[in-house]
Amino acid sequence: MRVPLLDLNEQYRFLAEPIRERIDKVLASQRFILGPNVEAFEQAICRFTGAPHAIGLSSGTDALLAILMAHEIGPGDAVITTPYSFFATAGCVARLGATPIFVDIDLATYNISSSELQRYIEKRCHTDSSGSLIDSEGRKIRAIIPVHLFGLCCEMDPIHTISERYNLDVIEDAAQAIGAQYRTKHMGLRKAGTMGEAGCFSFYPSKNLGAAGDAGMIVCRDEELAKRLRVIRQHGMEPRYHHQIIGGNFRLDEIQAAILDVKLPHLEEWSARRRAAADFYRDEFTGAGLTDRVTLPLEPYREHGLINHHIYHQYVIRTSQRDGVREHLTKKEIGTEIYYPVGLHLQKCFAYLGYKEGDFPEAERATRETLALPIYPEISREAQRYVVGAIAEFFG
Ligand SMILES: *Cc1c(COP(=O)(O)O)cnc(C)c1O
Repeated sequence: MRVPLLDLNEQYRFLAEPIRERIDKVLASQRFILGPNVEAFEQAICRFTGAPHAIGLSSGTDALLAILMAHEIGPGDAVITTPYSFFATAGCVARLGATPIFVDIDLATYNISSSELQRYIEKRCHTDSSGSLIDSEGRKIRAIIPVHLFGLCCEMDPIHTISERYNLDVIEDAAQAIGAQYRTKHMGLRKAGTMGEAGCFSFYPSKNLGAAGDAGMIVCRDEELAKRLRVIRQHGMEPRYHHQIIGGNFRLDEIQAAILDVKLPHLEEWSARRRAAADFYRDEFTGAGLTDRVTLPLEPYREHGLINHHIYHQYVIRTSQRDGVREHLTKKEIGTEIYYPVGLHLQKCFAYLGYKEGDFPEAERATRETLALPIYPEISREAQRYVVGAIAEFFG
């Protein structure tokens, strides 16, 4: 039996007609950049997330870049984030001439560890006379980028306590977590992207809400920030051909926005199906007596009365025999992926940052032991049984 890591065909068959209709309308209008579809989709994202403002962008990467630009983060500045994420999270910081600072993860959730964050700040930083947080190299720490990895929100309460104490902006990388929830102490029930100053989403085709190409979004609370972002996504142009600030071409296009607008109303149903598939995996792994061989995803917010306590963008297991398991599954025509095989702190392009192996033991262990299994809303129970059966076979 062939089980791909991700199969988008059924979703497309289900929505092909309305999607084609909307694309036809865009083609008939010959309006391709920043038109009514972008506006409609931005408003739909506001309603969906509860954020007051949403700004459509060309990708999740450009969303991160634009929000950092809006905060004028650059040389002499530093931004704290996780070493266990997709490259864009730290890449955008470095592209602006600022320094990414990594803090280890919590192996149980794969998200940045708030206790490591606290420890890093206490041990390696000081505050200057103006109250700014300064690292050991004299760089001003401006922001934290928590990444809600695999569809599970970071523990935002302790992150907020730290960000408030040290006057840091919180920019959520919610690329993998659209719709995921978290119960905050002070703001109540929240969706990913709406807990910090701003949240960034990606609509890369394989994300839970995927475009037919690249697309992204920023949501934020502050109206001035939203205005600034709209200017930055158009080369910092305001009015036409007058540039007060440096921006870029970070625009979301009409066809992508139209497609996403058709898909968004189905996202909650898709998330529910992903959660049901995760529950089924758990039952099957437990039934097969495999839970001492593989570590299943932790669900720390399951009992918090949330619907989307996890949205399972990826279903990631952990085992010390990861490479053997993967090889066996490949032989059985089961798609898997390693997110991520190398920590960001050990990437060649970041050698100049001076990190070395052993700096972040939990993140490094994750890079050696995690394996993403097939998950998508339409995955069949038969396919899942086959996956778990193949893993059981490996462990014999
Ligand atoms: C996908 C992703 C991005 C980048 O989004 P793109 O739309 O591909 O540019 C950033 N951060 C994380 C965690 C991602 O998964």
